[in-house]
Amino acid sequence: MRDRIIPPGATIGILGAGQLGRMTALAAARLGYKALSYSPEADAIAGQVAPHMQGEYDDTAALARFAAQVDVITYEFENVPEATVVACEKHKPVRPGVRPIHFAQHRLREKAFFRQAGLGTAAYQAIHTLADVAGATALPGILKTCTDGYDGKGQARVANKEQLAESWEKLGRRECILEALVDFQAEVSAIVARGLDGRTRCFPIGLNDHRDGILRTTTVPSGLPAAVVTEAERLGVRLANSLELVGLVALEMFVTKDGRVLANEMAPRPHNSGHWTIDACTTSQFEQLVRAVCGLPLGAVDVLAPSRMENLIGDEANDWLRYLSDPTARLHLYGKAKARPGRKMGHVTFLTLG
Ligand code: AMP
Repeated sequence: MRDRIIPPGATIGILGAGQLGRMTALAAARLGYKALSYSPEADAIAGQVAPHMQGEYDDTAALARFAAQVDVITYEFENVPEATVVACEKHKPVRPGVRPIHFAQHRLREKAFFRQAGLGTAAYQAIHTLADVAGATALPGILKTCTDGYDGKGQARVANKEQLAESWEKLGRRECILEALVDFQAEVSAIVARGLDGRTRCFPIGLNDHRDGILRTTTVPSGLPAAVVTEAERLGVRLANSLELVGLVALEMFVTKDGRVLANEMAPRPHNSGHWTIDACTTSQFEQLVRAVCGLPLGAVDVLAPSRMENLIGDEANDWLRYLSDPTARLHLYGKAKARPGRKMGHVTFLTLG
C-alpha cells in the first residue's frame, strides 16, 4: 500500500477549472500538494489559486503535456469527454477513471446502473421515438435529455402524453428519459469517498432544498429519521463499491412520503451539497478527494457544528458585506467576474455555534 502513496509535494492534475477545481486545489495546497488544472477557458477561476493550463479536451498533445507535469489526475465535472480521460490514462493514473463518467454522463445508462447495483429508482423509460411517446406510462413525469442536462436544464414536467409530445419536440426530439414524478418528502445526498484500498467513508447525510432545479441549501444534520439516514448512507456506499471508485461520488436521492429512499443521480466528484464540509466537518470533501486519489488514509467525517449551506446565485453574491458581518456565517466567493442569473457565484455556510 505504502508504495502506491502519492506523497505531499506531488502535483494533482484536475480536468476542469471551475469552483470545484478551485476548492480542490486549495485543499491540496493545505496538505502540501501542488495542483494544475486544465480547461479550455483563458480566465479559469481555478487558475486564480493554482497554475492552470489552457487546452481543449480533445487536444491529445496538450493533454500529454498536462499529464507530464502531474502525478495523478482527477476531474471536477462529469461531462469531461470519455476520450479525454482515456487519453490522460495513457500517461498517469486518472482517479476515479472513465467508468463513473460513462454512467454519470447519460441518464438512461445511469438509471440502469443504479438498478443493477441494487439501488431503487423512480419508474422510468426511454423516449427515443414517437412510438415511445405514444406508449409512455411513467406519467405524470419529468422528461429529461439523456446528456448535457444540469441544474434543471433540459427538463420538463409533463402531466400527460400531449404535454410529453410537445416537450419532446421542444427538446429537439433528442434521446430522453421519462421519469415518473416522485412525490418526495425530502431530497438528500450521500457523498462517499473510496480509497485505493477499497475502504469507504460517507459524509453525514445532507438535506437538500432545490428551487427551479438548482440546489439552494443543504442542511446538516438532516433531521430525518435514523432509518432513512442509514439507508441513504448504505446506498451511497453501495454505489461507490459498485463503481469500484477511487475518489469521491455524490448520490442524490429522494425520500418518499412512505420512507423509501430512491436514487436520482450521481456525480463522481465533489458536490455542491458537500460544501458545508469545508467549515463544519473534520475533513472537507475536497481534502477527502485529495486523500483518496493520493492513496492516503481517508479523514474522519464528524460534524463540528450543525450547519446550513446557502448557495449565492447571481446577484445574491453582492450581499457579501452582510455575510462578513454575521459571526455565524462563513463566506466563500468563487472569483467569477460576471454574475449572470442562475450562475453559482459563491456560497455561505451558517454554523450553529456554542
Ligand atoms: P436532476 O437534474 O435529475 O437532479 O433534477 C433536478 C431536480 O428536479 C431534483 O433535485 C428534483 O427536485 C426535481 N426532480 C428531478 N427528477 C424528479 C422526479 N423523478 N420526481 C420529482 N422531482 C424530480
